[in-house]
Amino acid sequence: MGYVFEPPALSSVAIHGSKDRFPVRRIFCVGRNYAAHAREMGRDPDREPPFYFMKPTDALVDNGVDVPYPPQTGNLHYEGELVVAIGKECANVSTENALDYVFGYAVGNDLTRRDLQLDAREKGRPWDTGKGFDHSAPCAEIHTVDQVGHISDARIWLSVNGEIRQDSNINKLIWSVPEVIANLSGLFKLEPGDLIYTGTPEGVGAVVAGDVIRVGVDGLTELETKIV
Ligand code: MN
Repeated sequence: MGYVFEPPALSSVAIHGSKDRFPVRRIFCVGRNYAAHAREMGRDPDREPPFYFMKPTDALVDNGVDVPYPPQTGNLHYEGELVVAIGKECANVSTENALDYVFGYAVGNDLTRRDLQLDAREKGRPWDTGKGFDHSAPCAEIHTVDQVGHISDARIWLSVNGEIRQDSNINKLIWSVPEVIANLSGLFKLEPGDLIYTGTPEGVGAVVAGDVIRVGVDGLTELETKIV
């Protein structure tokens, strides 16, 4: 058996200190997972259990690769985020055991066509056009748990053209990394290759062509993306 056309290349993410790459199966994203960001989006952070959306794996963009300003938007937003890479199959895991399934961590940017997302939100429609567009998932190299341990208390920041726009700490996640894995693994059997964008802190805002976005989480490789 063959295929009627050449299958697309498998999406993958670089791994710190390795020639090998992390093959990506799915990209899950957590919505409104920092209280101050939930408030700036007009929502009450105290009343919501975690919720999720997804991006297609071919939306991934390597560190340092330019992102074309996407079509059909006048309000492209950055969202600096900690990304968790899952290394082992798991379903219905407890919070206590959840970190056993983590392969490593990376810095990501959940690029968002905010105008399309908010229009969909107000109409009760899916967020795909606002969140899952081409080139919407820049991700820097993954650092393995052996290299950096687990990340629960670390500065997370984002700058545009050198000016800090987001500055928070992973310890402010409403749903921590183990809590997200435990909850998500009750909804989906998680598999090696799954990525989880864990949510963005307050300070989201728009970028335009020519802007350079840098995202950092202490201990991890910084992610740089130019919008062109
Ligand atoms: Mn996000």
